[in-house]
Amino acid sequence: SLSDRLNNTFDRLRGKGKLTEADITSAMRDIRMALLEADVNFKVVKDFVAKTKERCMTADVMESLTPAQNVVKIVLDELTELLGTTESKLVFSNRIPNVIMLVGLQGSGKTTAAVKLAYLLKKQGRSPLLAACDVYRPAAADQLATLGGEIGVPVFRGDGAHPVQIAQDAVREAIDKLRDVVIVDTAGRLQIDEQMMQEAVDIKRAVKPDQVLMVVDAMTGQDIVNVVSTFAERTDFDGVIISKLDGDARGGGALSVRAVTGKPIKFVSMGEKPDSLEPFYPDRMAKRILGMGDVIGIIEKAQEAADAETVASAERMLREGFTMNDMLEQMKAVKKMGGMKGILGMLPGGQKLLNQMGGNLDESVFAKNEAMIMSMTAEERMRPSIINGQRRARIARGSGTTPADVNQLMKQWGEMNKMMSRMRTMAQQAGAGKKGK
Ligand code: GDP
Ligand code: MG
Repeated sequence: SLSDRLNNTFDRLRGKGKLTEADITSAMRDIRMALLEADVNFKVVKDFVAKTKERCMTADVMESLTPAQNVVKIVLDELTELLGTTESKLVFSNRIPNVIMLVGLQGSGKTTAAVKLAYLLKKQGRSPLLAACDVYRPAAADQLATLGGEIGVPVFRGDGAHPVQIAQDAVREAIDKLRDVVIVDTAGRLQIDEQMMQEAVDIKRAVKPDQVLMVVDAMTGQDIVNVVSTFAERTDFDGVIISKLDGDARGGGALSVRAVTGKPIKFVSMGEKPDSLEPFYPDRMAKRILGMGDVIGIIEKAQEAADAETVASAERMLREGFTMNDMLEQMKAVKKMGGMKGILGMLPGGQKLLNQMGGNLDESVFAKNEAMIMSMTAEERMRPSIINGQRRARIARGSGTTPADVNQLMKQWGEMNKMMSRMRTMAQQAGAGKKGK
């Protein structure tokens, strides 16, 4: 599955201090798959991956402490930006009534969205009027009338009239009845159809809507690009409502709509009920498209695992004492974080301190210590106190160091071990205190 694939990729990335171009390429392959599976248009995916890869290939990312997380963050950022960085609200003119016209394929959710919009506007203190301009689908006007009745919004139906006429009459009716917004629900076909397009164009010309919103079913696949491009050319529209996002659909189509037309997504529809129209949040959508719930889980789990490991090793150190193996682990951890220079560079004021020292930090001490510990036997590492003169000389020979170097290392270990013992005593006293109660 996708989350397994990403999991593997990020596992691989996490284990590395630095990323290579091949690592990034492999991660991008997974991202590409995620987007295609979410039905993002392939051309949009291609451009997106190319741009994102470029951003990931900078030294900042590749040599950072947490490259995998950085890559994920960049992917999310870029996707969010592509979806539109801020949520889009409806824009109203001073005209009374404002006219909002809905367009889209049959079954996309126009009628449902019209009712939801009416409900939302009513809650905002406006007095909307719904106009039933779908004269082709049997009972389409009845559907609107029923739903309108449920939310207490009047529906204008010009039974038998031409859709253009109905829209114009609805605007007149709104003026008569002091309704300040007319929401025009139009007809759609299952596919792009010349008569339908022309009718939408005619309605638009007749009532000059303040806003045309296109309703797009979240489940529409690759075909969506053709559909929205045609609508963009013929009727043009100001924004998009993504419907049926309460289902399984990842909603990759939304990304394609935005990327191809540049039109903002204004709302997402999360169900059939009138109150299920929600503002659009690009970051949430980006996560959804990527299946990011999974990915974020992966990052969190990795963090938990790392924390658990630290706690476990701290507990073991308290229990069993501080060994040379622990010392080796600590040095490796420091090295992984970019050495002492890297750590200092991250601390506030650390860079200044480093400059004062002339950038001079002898990292070769690490290598030397590592070599000495590697030359110890397993027993010596676990119980350094058994290291006598003879063993010291052997370790020095094996690691290309001197007995004085080994002494130095022993002294360091002795200090740390003493600290651990003190902590152990404190932990035991605290434990005994608890039990005593
Ligand atoms: P229209 O042909 O564009 O007017 O589409 P409709 O508004 O009639 O919706 C078609 C079908 O999709 C209806 O059964 C709606 O109840 C359903 N529908 C619309 N929007 C949503 C939504 O956001 N979630 C779900 N689950 N169903 C929806
Ligand atoms: Mg309809």
